[in-house]
Amino acid sequence: MIETLADKKIVIAGAGVTGLMMALRIKQLDPNAEVIIFDKADRPGGMYQSIEYPNGRIFDYGMHLIYESCNPVVDDLYREVMDEQDWHIHEKNEKDIAGLFYRDRLQDYSHYVDLRSFTEGEKKKFLGDFMLNLENKRVDVSRSGWQALQSQFGREIVDSVHRPLIQALYGMSIEDADQFVIKATALDRIVLFNPDTMLDLMKSDKIRSRLAFADQLNLPPYRTNNQKALYPKRFGMKHFIDRLVKALRERGVEILTNIAGVSLHSSGDRVDSINIKERNGNSKEVAVRTLFWSIGWPSLAYALGIDMSGIGKTGGTKVVFANLVFNKPPEMGKLYYFYCYDPNFATFRVTHYANYCPAAAVDGFPVCVELWPSRLGMHPTQLSDEQCLALAIDELRCMGIITDSHMLKFSAIENKGAEFPLPSIINVKGIEEIKNRIHCKRMRNIEVTGIMAEEDLFFIPDILNHAFSVIEKTFTSETNYE
Ligand SMILES: Cc1cc2nc3c(=O)[nH]c(=O)nc-3n(C[C@H](O)[C@H](O)[C@H](O)COP(=O)(O)OP(=O)(O)OC[C@H]3O[C@@H](n4cnc5c(N)ncnc54)[C@H](O)[C@@H]3O)c2cc1C
Repeated sequence: MIETLADKKIVIAGAGVTGLMMALRIKQLDPNAEVIIFDKADRPGGMYQSIEYPNGRIFDYGMHLIYESCNPVVDDLYREVMDEQDWHIHEKNEKDIAGLFYRDRLQDYSHYVDLRSFTEGEKKKFLGDFMLNLENKRVDVSRSGWQALQSQFGREIVDSVHRPLIQALYGMSIEDADQFVIKATALDRIVLFNPDTMLDLMKSDKIRSRLAFADQLNLPPYRTNNQKALYPKRFGMKHFIDRLVKALRERGVEILTNIAGVSLHSSGDRVDSINIKERNGNSKEVAVRTLFWSIGWPSLAYALGIDMSGIGKTGGTKVVFANLVFNKPPEMGKLYYFYCYDPNFATFRVTHYANYCPAAAVDGFPVCVELWPSRLGMHPTQLSDEQCLALAIDELRCMGIITDSHMLKFSAIENKGAEFPLPSIINVKGIEEIKNRIHCKRMRNIEVTGIMAEEDLFFIPDILNHAFSVIEKTFTSETNYE
């Protein structure tokens, strides 16, 4: 029997926000399309799912707000899934209240590194070099993070500030960092001046793109877009994911979870079918119209049986989530979260949920500490849950975020191998090489999107803009409908 287009399904690999939102967009464009999503996890949602504990406590995987894409096609879908009144909508200076623990001090006014506490001599050197560098043309010779940072701030600042910072965070030398380090770690600006001086300096685009305003809640309204951040009124990003999944099921989208693996069957330049193996031993053969892959190039190469020899490491930094509830709020003012860049800490980020979702404060104040044990030279598997908990509490005390009067009401450790991408040249080049090998196969009905599908693709607004443009391209191209 000859299969027609109507028999074939649109298959989406990965049921994270990317895969789920893609399915919704596809059904919007073609309500008759048959869509099937598969995921290895036991629940859809990926990093935007929440963890639910038996006692009813809920935590997200650290800080996960939804930042709008500034593309109505994407942003209207959020409102279609969940009514406006069910979202907290944070905007203007309250969109993202973020801080930084740096040089032994919590900056509650900016999450950009503040150089004002360096000595007068150091600051003079920084400023002279920074100003001279402003006149230089920015040369983008390679993907080198080191060169990109130097063209942004000058060598004096980069060697004194960014070099030790990148070493402490990622355990790699700055020469090994890809430009992606700037985006992944919010290193695109620094604080050099007090807010009143900055008010004048910010008239220059060159300055404003390099220097941060050290009073985020009183930042003048200079933004060119009106991007908002969304979070469900009820605590837990799961409430959005649940609605999204419900909307998809109502439209006939099939979501398969607990997938053990897949194999692709192709003829010529097309994937004809995919065999999806469930963990319970069942498997399903699906005829493929288009395969949208949102789970990274390496797993696609694996599914296509591509030789991966000679490819550098493409892994990331392992993250442990310490989920804690205290009897009183942590001492971090209005901050939604802050990063920690000081050496000798395993903490990467601390999130205070009740600051952006007041409903989180039920019988205590939930706080998530994202630990990167590799910063202390350890692998998460070397640490017991008790050790992770002790580390998180000890570091919060050390940073002054909790005091002796903070009582722990609940704790749980999530140490299940979550990874933050390592922004190294070798990693990014490795992914590029995998991508090239896949492109050599010239498969016409596979489209790749999601984290690291393209350079610097990591945060959800960029990913969804990319994913939706991939769908647009696919739907307007006749070739995929033959
Ligand atoms: C530690 C960490 C912290 C982050 N912090 C922020 C932040 O503060 N702000 C922000 O905007 N973004 C943050 N991000 C990025 C954000 O999580 C991503 O932009 C977003 O999750 C991307 O959605 P996704 O669906 O593409 O990927 P994911 O959420 O990662 O979902 C991918 C899905 O694919 C599934 N999957 C993976 N491999 C396979 C496989 N081989 N077979 C089948 N299924 C598979 C997974 O189970 C998962 O459900 C963070 C990411 C990490 C890792």
